[in-house]
Amino acid sequence: MSIQIIIEKCTGCALCVKACPFGAIRIVNKKAAIDLDKCNLCGACVEVCKFKAILLDKSETRTGVAEIKDYKDVWVFVEQKGGKIQSVSYELLGKAQELAHKLKCQVGAVLLGNNLDDLLDEIIGHGADKVYLVQAPELFHFQDEPYTNILVELIKKYKPEILLCGATAIGRSLISRVAVKIRTGLTADCTGLDIEPERKLLLQTRPAFGGNIMATIITPNHRPQMATVRHKVMPIKPPDKHRKGKIIRENFNGVLLRSRSRLLDVIEEVETLVNLAEADIIVSGGRGMQAKENFKLLEELAHVLGAGVGASRAAVDSGWMPYSHQVGQTGRTVAPKIYIACGISGQIQHLVGMQSSKIIVAINKDPDAPIFKIATYGIVGDLFEIVPLLTKRFREVLQRG
Ligand SMILES: Cc1cc2nc3c(=O)[nH]c(=O)nc-3n(C[C@H](O)[C@H](O)[C@H](O)COP(=O)(O)OP(=O)(O)OC[C@H]3O[C@@H](n4cnc5c(N)ncnc54)[C@H](O)[C@@H]3O)c2cc1C
Repeated sequence: MSIQIIIEKCTGCALCVKACPFGAIRIVNKKAAIDLDKCNLCGACVEVCKFKAILLDKSETRTGVAEIKDYKDVWVFVEQKGGKIQSVSYELLGKAQELAHKLKCQVGAVLLGNNLDDLLDEIIGHGADKVYLVQAPELFHFQDEPYTNILVELIKKYKPEILLCGATAIGRSLISRVAVKIRTGLTADCTGLDIEPERKLLLQTRPAFGGNIMATIITPNHRPQMATVRHKVMPIKPPDKHRKGKIIRENFNGVLLRSRSRLLDVIEEVETLVNLAEADIIVSGGRGMQAKENFKLLEELAHVLGAGVGASRAAVDSGWMPYSHQVGQTGRTVAPKIYIACGISGQIQHLVGMQSSKIIVAINKDPDAPIFKIATYGIVGDLFEIVPLLTKRFREVLQRG
C-alpha cells in the first residue's frame, strides 16, 4: 500500500493538510508533501482532494488486501492463571459465538500454559469449536515475549478474522504487542461488539472523550480485527457440557519461548476481602475517608453485607487501599447489583468503572457532588455518621432475616 502526490495536479490548496488527522502533510513550494513516517495511509486526504492529485494504492496492504479473504474464524485468547481460567474469557467466548454465528464461521480459543488439558472441556462448553493449545514449562507463568511470539505464530498460521482478549493486566500487555508485530489495528476497552452486515466488519464500540461519546471503530484494511473487553461488560453464557470441539496442539521452536526478562517470583496478593470482580455488592471509599484506618468502617459494612471493598484512585494513590481494589478507568470495571460510594466525588474516570451497577448509593457531604447525578439513592451527610448507622441497621435486619 502506498501513497503519492501527483505534482502536476496539485494546486497547493492545502485541503489535504487540514484533513490529515496525523499532521503528515505540509505545503512545500506550493505543493503538498507527505511525511511517510507520520502517514497512516488512512486516505482522508484522498477523499478531500478536489483535483485527484493524491494517489493511494491499496493493491497491497500491510496484511495484503488479497489476503483479507483468507482470514476466517473468531478467536478468543483464553487467559489462565495457575490453571484457572479468568472469567472474562468465558464472557468473550459467549460473545465470540454470537459474532461467529453472524459471520458463519467458527470460534477458536487460544490457550497457552502448561498442564492445561483439564481446562479443555470447560472452554469448549463455553463456546469454542476449536482450541489451539500450546503447552511448555516456559509458558506456565505469563511472560510478554514468549506469549507474544506464540500468539503471533498462531495468527500467521491460522489467520483468524477477529481476535478478542480480556482487558486485564495480562491481556493489555500481550495484545498490544501482538497488534504491533502483526501490524493490525486494536481497539481497547470495548463495551460493544457487533458485525456490520454488508462488509462483515467487526464494529468495535467504546467510550471516547472521557465517556462523553460512544465511538464505533472498524478495521477495514488489516487482519485480524482485534479488540479488548473489560471484565463483566459482557454476560457469561451458561456452559453446554455436551458441546464437542477440536483440539489443535502446537509445538514451537524453543527460540520463541525465550524471554529477555527473567521471572524471579510470583507473589499473590492475599485477598482478605471478597473479590471485587465477583461481588454482588461493593462498598467503595474515596478521599472522603481521610485515612487508611477509616477503611475499617467500610470493611465492617462490607462484612455485614457480604460485599467487596472498592476504592477511588485518590484513596489508592494515598496508600489507603491496594491498587487491585481501584475502580475506574485505570482500575477495575465493576457492575454489581449494589454499589455504595462513600466520600467519592464522582469524577468521570471513576464513573466509567462503576456506572453500570444496578443500584448506586452515594454518601457525600457535598450536595453538588457529581456522583449524585448517577446515584439511584443519594445520602447527603457525613459518612462517618452514616456508614456506622447503616452497618448497625443492616446487621439488625439481616440477623433477624
Ligand atoms: C487518566 C486518569 C485516570 C484516572 N483513573 C481513575 C480511576 O481508575 N479511578 C478513580 O477513582 N479515579 C481515577 N482518576 C482520578 C479521578 O479524576 C479523580 O481524581 C478521583 O476519582 C477522585 O477521587 P475521590 O472522588 O475519592 O476524591 P475527591 O474528588 O477529592 O472527592 C472526595 C469526596 O469526598 C467527599 N467527602 C469528604 N469528606 C466527607 C465526609 N466526611 N463525608 C462524606 N463525604 C465526604 C467530598 O465532598 C468529595 O466529594 C483518574 C484520573 C486520570 C487523569
